[in-house]
Amino acid sequence: MKTPIPFLEAMVGLFYPNLCCACGKNLLLSQQVLCIDCQYRLPKTQFHHHADNPFAERFWGRLPLHAGASLYFFTKGGRVQRLLHALKYEGRQELGRYLGNMYGAELAQSSLFAGIDLIVPVPLHPRKRRQRGYNQSDCFAEGLSEALGRPWLPNALIRQSFTQTQTRKSRFERLRNVEEAFALQQPQALSGKHILLVDDVMTTGATLEACGLLLTGLPDVRLSMATIAIADV
Ligand SMILES: [Zn+2]
Repeated sequence: MKTPIPFLEAMVGLFYPNLCCACGKNLLLSQQVLCIDCQYRLPKTQFHHHADNPFAERFWGRLPLHAGASLYFFTKGGRVQRLLHALKYEGRQELGRYLGNMYGAELAQSSLFAGIDLIVPVPLHPRKRRQRGYNQSDCFAEGLSEALGRPWLPNALIRQSFTQTQTRKSRFERLRNVEEAFALQQPQALSGKHILLVDDVMTTGATLEACGLLLTGLPDVRLSMATIAIADV
């Protein structure tokens, strides 16, 4: 039986249409964040089913990674880019939580990601966080936390110095630049844990590597990583 649409909700939808974050089409009242087409057709990597995958390979010889995976492939000008833009620059925080819920449910089925103790988001520099009002990785971490039934620690890592645009620097310079930028805030809460480090997008992996090196420097830490998207370098 079809549920009647409440009058007020219908009127609100008429003047403030709810749009899909990835393709911009009108959403049905029963849909949130993503339309059905995007839910099924956005390019999922399925990396979490394979220990040796392109995400994990980027860290070979760089740091000891237990498991690594991304939800989507990023393509320039594609729907996943629009999705990330909405999350970072259009205030769509609920999108991060929605994707975290969705991906967390998938990771919970993967033996590679079994036994996660806690989730740690890559921090934004405080100045950037003030400008944006939130850290998009926090939103993703919160959604993952709900789906995996594990806590997330928003301030386990802090960002110290403001990193300038990284595009013209070599990988070594980039790494040195970001390494200087992070510090551990609550090492006692992290030691001996299986930590899932999360970020919105993985490109060169320099940021994740810098954070990961700090975490794996603690006693008995097992490190895994997850991002919403993975881009070609
Ligand atoms: Zn869509």
